[in-house]
Amino acid sequence: MLDSTCIFCKIIQGSVPSVVVKENEYVTVIKNIDPKAPIHYLIIPKKHLVDIASLTEADQQFGWQILKIARDISTEQNLSGFNLVSNNGAVAGQSVFHLHFHFISGKNLYSGGFTL
Ligand code: 5GP
Ligand code: ZN
Repeated sequence: MLDSTCIFCKIIQGSVPSVVVKENEYVTVIKNIDPKAPIHYLIIPKKHLVDIASLTEADQQFGWQILKIARDISTEQNLSGFNLVSNNGAVAGQSVFHLHFHFISGKNLYSGGFTL
């Protein structure tokens, strides 16, 4: 379930320190060590899943749990908006190969002209 060589698995196990914002049986939410916005959390499943492409039916609970904890953080912190981003694959900017979602708030990611 966890990979002893993976930095996020080490964080889940507690052998690497992190600032935990919220967690449950399925996911943990930590502060990014190198934040790019006033709020920049990482939502991390408590299973070593590499990326979205590697998910199977057996992992379906993690999808809902990731969205649910994003919803709950938004509500509890009374945020007016947030972005949820997952980089999948090195060419898409993924640097830690344990599935995670960046939860970003307090910064307009599109102020530089980039749009989706
Ligand atoms: P990726 O580039 O894979 O989408 O995102 C990986 C993120 O993990 C980066 O934003 C990076 O700052 C963060 N990160 C890498 N190592 C650590 C760590 O040891 N602790 C924390 N809190 N964040 C980390
Ligand atoms: Zn891992």
